[in-house]
Amino acid sequence: MKIERPRGTRDFLPDEMERRRAVERVMREIAESFGYREVSTPTFEHLELFTLKSGQGIVEEIYAFRDKSGRELALRPELTAPVMRMFVNECSVMPRPLRFYYLSNCFRYERPQKGRYREFWQFGVELIGSDRPESDAEVIMLAYRILKSLNVNFKLHVGHVGLLRDVLSDVSEKDRAMRLIDKKDWEGLRALLKEEGQADIFDTVIEISEASDVEKAREVYPDFDYSYLEVLFGILEEMDVRFVPDFGIARGLDYYTGVVFEMYAEGLGAQKQVCGGGSYRLSGLFGGEDVPSTGFAIGFDRVVQVCSVEILRKPKAVVVGFGDSIRAFRVAEMLRSAGIHAIVDVMGRNVKKQLSYADSIKADFAVFAGDELERGQVRIKNLRTQEQEDVSLKDLRGYFSGFLNSGS
Ligand code: ATP
Ligand code: MG
Repeated sequence: MKIERPRGTRDFLPDEMERRRAVERVMREIAESFGYREVSTPTFEHLELFTLKSGQGIVEEIYAFRDKSGRELALRPELTAPVMRMFVNECSVMPRPLRFYYLSNCFRYERPQKGRYREFWQFGVELIGSDRPESDAEVIMLAYRILKSLNVNFKLHVGHVGLLRDVLSDVSEKDRAMRLIDKKDWEGLRALLKEEGQADIFDTVIEISEASDVEKAREVYPDFDYSYLEVLFGILEEMDVRFVPDFGIARGLDYYTGVVFEMYAEGLGAQKQVCGGGSYRLSGLFGGEDVPSTGFAIGFDRVVQVCSVEILRKPKAVVVGFGDSIRAFRVAEMLRSAGIHAIVDVMGRNVKKQLSYADSIKADFAVFAGDELERGQVRIKNLRTQEQEDVSLKDLRGYFSGFLNSGS
C-alpha cells in the first residue's frame, strides 16, 4: 500500500532544500546584522495561547487536539504569541529592547492552493520593549532589506490600525468589522454597520482606506493624532525605504494596536502577501507586564517561490576505486579535508559504471584511487574540462582551492 502525504503538506527534495537553505541564510545574516538573535519555541502549545487574542480567523484554522491526559493543545499557527509567552516566562528581566528572530514551521487548516499550505514556514522578528516610531522603522527596514537582497519584486504598504479602530469606536463588534476590512468584504461591512445602526461611518471607512497620504487621511478624519506616523514616514523616506501609506490595512490578527504593514510580491497570483507585521501589546495578556512590541512574519515559502538567490556549492568529486574500498575511503577522507565533497562507490561497480554515475550526478571531478597512490599521488580528472593530471596528496588543498566558492 502506498501512503500519500497529508493534504496541504510538501516533501522537499535536495535541489529544493538547497534553495530554501540559501534563502534562509540571507534572511538570517541580515537579521543578525541588525542585532537580532535566533529563538525557538515548541511546535505545540496550550490551545489557549492562540485563542486569547489571535482573532477568529486564525482560531478557525487551528490544528487543535487533546493529548493522552486530556490537555487541550494546538500546533502553532504563528510565532508571535509563542515568542511573547516565552518572553513573559523567561526573559522579562533581560536588558531591553530584546531583538529575536525565528524561522519555524506553522500549521493552519486552510484550503490548500498555490502559495497556501497546511504546513508552511515563517521567518519573523520581534523587537520587544519600545513604543517609539524608531522601533517600527527598524523592523520595517529589516523586512525591506531582506526582500530587496533576495531580489523580490514587491510593494510595501504602511498604515496604523488605530485610525480605523477610532472610526469604529462605537461599533461593538469592532474585531469582526476589522476582519471584514482586512478581507475587503465591503458588502459584509456595510451589513454589519447597518445592523449596529452605524451605517453613516461606512463612507468614512472607505475614504480612509483610499487616502493616499497623511494629509488626505487628516481631511477625512481630523480627530486622530498623526504625529507618530509622520515621524515614522519621515525616517522611512530618509532611509530610502519605498512605501505606500495605506490606512485601510486591518490585519487578520486581532492583537495589533498601532502601526501595521504588509508587503505584496509580484508573481504569486492571489496569495501575494509575503510579509505582515506591526506593533502590538500581548505580554500583559499572557501574565506579564504590559510591554510594547513590534514584529513581522515573512511567508518563507512564498518568498522562496519568487526570489532569486545565489546557491553556493562546494565542488563534488567521485572517488573511482579499483576494487580496494579501503583505499577509496582513505582518498575520500583526504579530499574532504581538502575542502571538497567526496563520494565513494558503495555498489561494487566497475570503473566505467563509476564514471557514468559521476556524470549522472554532475560531479566536478573524478579522483582515481589507483597505483599512483604508491608514489603519494592521485590522478584527478576535471569533468568539466576533461583535463587530467597527477596531483601530490600534499598539494590537494592547493589544487582545489581555485575551485572553492566559485559557485555553480
Ligand atoms: P493570508 O491573508 O495570505 O492568509 P495572513 O494574514 O493569514 O495571510 P499572517 O498570519 O500575517 O498571514 O502570516 C504572515 C505571512 O505568512 C503571510 O503574509 C503569508 O506570506 C504567510 N502565510 C500565511 N498563511 C500561509 C499559508 N497557509 N501557507 C503559506 N504561507 C502562509
Ligand atoms: Mg490567513
